[in-house]
Amino acid sequence: MDDIKTLGNWIGGREVAPASGAFLDNVEPATGQILARIPDSGPDDVDQAVAAATNAFPAWSALSVAERAERVEALAALIERDTERLAELESRDTGKPLRLARDIDMGRARANLRFFAQAMQQWTSASHDMGPIGFNYTRREPLGPVALITPWNLPLYLLTWKLAPALVTGNTVVAKPSEMTPLTADALAALSLEAGIPGGVFNLVQGSGAGCGQALVDHPGIKAISFTGGTVTGRRIAASAAPRLVKTSLELGGKNPAIVHADADLDRTVAGLLRAGFTNQGQVCLCSSRWLIHDALYQPLVERLIEAVRRLQVGDPNLGSTDQGALISAAHRDKVMAFIDQARREGGRILAGGESVRPEGRCREGYFIRPTLISDLPDTSRLHFDEIFGPVVTLQRFSDEEQAIELANSTDYGLAATVWTRDLALAHRTAERLQSGIVWINDWLVRDLRTPFGGVKQSGLGREGGRWSLEFFTEPKNVFVSTR
Ligand code: NAD
Repeated sequence: MDDIKTLGNWIGGREVAPASGAFLDNVEPATGQILARIPDSGPDDVDQAVAAATNAFPAWSALSVAERAERVEALAALIERDTERLAELESRDTGKPLRLARDIDMGRARANLRFFAQAMQQWTSASHDMGPIGFNYTRREPLGPVALITPWNLPLYLLTWKLAPALVTGNTVVAKPSEMTPLTADALAALSLEAGIPGGVFNLVQGSGAGCGQALVDHPGIKAISFTGGTVTGRRIAASAAPRLVKTSLELGGKNPAIVHADADLDRTVAGLLRAGFTNQGQVCLCSSRWLIHDALYQPLVERLIEAVRRLQVGDPNLGSTDQGALISAAHRDKVMAFIDQARREGGRILAGGESVRPEGRCREGYFIRPTLISDLPDTSRLHFDEIFGPVVTLQRFSDEEQAIELANSTDYGLAATVWTRDLALAHRTAERLQSGIVWINDWLVRDLRTPFGGVKQSGLGREGGRWSLEFFTEPKNVFVSTR
């Protein structure tokens, strides 16, 4: 028990114990062992953090863009220096393969910080000329202390995605990471001080959603809330923020379709679907979890997919050969298994996987499920509509373009879709008709940080990325100058 680390909150540049003295256990998903204790923060801690962010705001927002950008770039350099340590923390905290944490999560965390530091230095504001009367110019002003609330699937990746634009535009921050993945956020707060970001500019409170997250959302000192997480939580946050007219950005759940047309390139589609379905154990909001396949290609494609999915190695996240690590918690594993059991009861055919796994050695008590492919479910099955957020993909067939679009658009969600075809006109037509914030044609998870990111329907409200993030974290103020 003695090696279990006890974390604090980061408030005003110092690591502090929670006001209540209470802590929560943080469990390592691959082993089921306790990894750390984290503050069970509540309104008192949030109060202190918002006060620190409020005090730090005047000086931070008065710095030049170049001065703020320089510190954010310095933070990226420290992440680069500490990649190995941070990737290990991320992998242990989430259960994801160490290789994935190193290559994807840490790479993207650095890229987020560098991208927004540079983007802010290129950003221009508008001027509207009125000829002989005068002209308008539009200032973009920071908001003040903002709340950043993030989920467990991509902890440092998503925190830096919000932190970078919030800081470069001159805001101060109170962040609350998921109680299930506190470690890299804690490390980031310490690194931010080393990067020269003054104490109080980036504050971090750890704890539960109900106790700590809700107190942050309700705090009158918070000027905007950027949230990524589940749709149910997002609705609650929107309801809490509405009476105070606080700005929110909500990046929520998905149930993303992959449409495979009859002429799709088989090799490319198999490789792409495998990544889109099972990266991070299917726990990426953008994962394609419904594969809709044209009748003409169904049999040969599904044969190839079954073989490829069965080859995926499930096990110890530290091993270089592991493709699939652990799910985030025992409760989440049980929820995913309950969906698989329901599929069996509904007459679904389990083509691959369908069971939990106990790897040999140190990971025997971890939360592992074999990547699972399910076909022949009734079209009305909840498995086609509910976000499972695990390594489970359902298959459906279609016979023409109309039916493909109808199936793809049949859920309440609309985050990300993929389309697989060699027919250009068909690809663009499909993209246009999909109810989705993001469409990838013949690929998956290619991200250009300048592009708008977000969902329609129950997948969210607002967009992040590029100028959309910079706009969210600033308020436009128009100034008219008379020349009469
Ligand atoms: P979650 O909604 O349970 O929790 C997200 C965060 O909100 C956590 O930090 C949690 O503690 C906090 N929270 C919970 N209740 C709160 C409340 N009442 N007030 C304030 N904060 C509260 O989500 P999760 O289980 O951590 O993450 C998985 C979900 O996130 C999935 O639905 C997934 O699709 C979604 N997600 C979406 C995106 C996207 O960009 N659209 C990206 C990643 C994950």
